[in-house]
Amino acid sequence: MRDGSLIYREAFLNGLKPDPDLSVSQWADMYRMLSNKASAEPGPWRTDRTPYLREIMDCMSANSPVQKVVFMAGAQLGKTEGINNVVGYMIAHAPGPALFVQPTIEMAKRLSKQRLDSLIHETPCLAEKVAPARSRDSGNTMFSKEFPGGILLLTGANSATGLRSAPCRWVLLDEVDAFPSDVDGEGDPCALAERRASTFSRRKIILTSTPTVKEMSRIETEYLASDQRRYYVPCPHCDHMQWLQWKNLQWRDGDPRTAVYVCESCGTHIQEHYKSEMLRKGEWRSTATSQDPRTVGFHLSSLYSPLGWKSWEEIVGEFLRAKNDAPLLKTFVNTVLGETWEEETGAKLGAEGLSERAEFYPAGEVPDGASVLTAGVDVQDNRVAIGLYAWGRDEECWLISHTEIYGDPAGQKLWDQVDDLLLRDYPHANGGRVKVSAVGCDSGGHYTSEVYAYARGRKGKGIFALKGQSVRNKPPIGKPSRVDINYKGQVLKNSAEVYPVGTDTIKSTLFGRMKHNEAGAGYIHFHAEAGQEYFKQLTAERQIVRYVKGFAIREWKKKAGDRNEALDCFVYSYAALHFLYMRFNRSTIFEQFERGIAKKEKNANTSEELAKEPIESPYRPPQRRLRRRTPSFVTSW
Ligand SMILES: [Zn+2]
Repeated sequence: MRDGSLIYREAFLNGLKPDPDLSVSQWADMYRMLSNKASAEPGPWRTDRTPYLREIMDCMSANSPVQKVVFMAGAQLGKTEGINNVVGYMIAHAPGPALFVQPTIEMAKRLSKQRLDSLIHETPCLAEKVAPARSRDSGNTMFSKEFPGGILLLTGANSATGLRSAPCRWVLLDEVDAFPSDVDGEGDPCALAERRASTFSRRKIILTSTPTVKEMSRIETEYLASDQRRYYVPCPHCDHMQWLQWKNLQWRDGDPRTAVYVCESCGTHIQEHYKSEMLRKGEWRSTATSQDPRTVGFHLSSLYSPLGWKSWEEIVGEFLRAKNDAPLLKTFVNTVLGETWEEETGAKLGAEGLSERAEFYPAGEVPDGASVLTAGVDVQDNRVAIGLYAWGRDEECWLISHTEIYGDPAGQKLWDQVDDLLLRDYPHANGGRVKVSAVGCDSGGHYTSEVYAYARGRKGKGIFALKGQSVRNKPPIGKPSRVDINYKGQVLKNSAEVYPVGTDTIKSTLFGRMKHNEAGAGYIHFHAEAGQEYFKQLTAERQIVRYVKGFAIREWKKKAGDRNEALDCFVYSYAALHFLYMRFNRSTIFEQFERGIAKKEKNANTSEELAKEPIESPYRPPQRRLRRRTPSFVTSW
């Protein structure tokens, strides 16, 4: 197609001045030749073959306001040639000092010998500008290429000397996830290289990589700080624009040949032959606001690989071979999906980090700021663990106590001791008293009927039986179901209730919050006396990724033999808070409870007596009624 602007540009280029508006993709379409040595499709470059590269390359054009491009991608998308186009454009059209960084010096050598030499050699307008490497004073060596108006320096991220070169307007950082985290004790090689460009107001920086492990991935960190563009393509059947996701790729009977893409809008199966048309009609859309408006980020999986390169069938085949082998699956997730691998989300947390930020506040007392007390009960074969947590506005949280009581869950003595902890009230820092408002008891172990019976008799105290559901996207707590139980052969008049609890959802929430570093909304305060064992149990689980029918399932797992009751109790305690949300106005519950404590403060002299009151146990008739009804701020159940 020869439109007016193209003719104008050609005239411009045949004339004396370079066209200031020529973009990288236009330059590549006009001049770039692919050699048969380095390319499977030799001949003139056509951006139309990989339409998604157009915008990425053009952000590197001299007239684009973008200063930094982040490109996180899978394999077989033409990424390497896209970068070669940027290098060619720079040499031919926008010369200046440039630094091209590979993960190692060795890889920089290979880049120079294989990629750059053929790029320059095969593209006539570049060959004119860079002298052949043979002559000694050609300015063309393994690690530097001179050309009119500029120089291209090549180095490895493992060489601080190379990264400390002269100022550079162009900085190209390739495969940044393979860069060392520190180079020769001088810090982050990316930062060192980017600093080279800091004096240029019209600098151009591009970072590309296949991602690696979650939270250790440079490219993902950079992408998440960017405007997070995704390539939206239309469904050929309903025109709905969507970005291609692995979860929508489907196949039958373990046969990769049946692979189709299922439209997220109309559900129609899209055959792969539509891909060329879809890519041509696609467009990049940002999905976030960039921290720096001059930084743009692109993410692309191999699902977009053009016809004839990497097919959906091959991708499914690769997945089926990898799915039962963690290292293979990691490679698949990184290089095909272009996504980070989440080995152990919790690993970074670690018991140590949490215990280090533990605080001193009076033990067993509800601190200022907290007004709601909830507990979680986990029943083991020879003990019961109870986690008691206080909550304040915006779910700021304080660990009050974590207690283990040894005994036989089939006997009454153990449950009496549980009552001692749960049915008494606790002093508040402001002088008031606070009752435990809700208690979630896990019924999932070997003592289901005992837990049912315990909770059933204490419904009025906010004590309920729960059953954990380790399924994603479940609400923290769901609607209860009735369970008819035979307790010691007797059919009880009233059936017990059990509440489903979305343990995975809650764990994700709590683990996310454990990373918060500042007190306030969602912050978790840990008591300094909690001890290493508590923190060890709290962080015993890790999130892992498993694939079921091609869908990524993230689930929480603990190592065999590790104890995790502290985490379970915390989870149930949080479920108990949500149990209260079903009964109180969620937006005012904390204020409501605060008023209740303030009211009690006036009657503080009664708290001594209250503490001595006998505790009701449904296993025997109450010995006597409570002497006085406390001015309760908890409505009856
Ligand atoms: Zn559709």
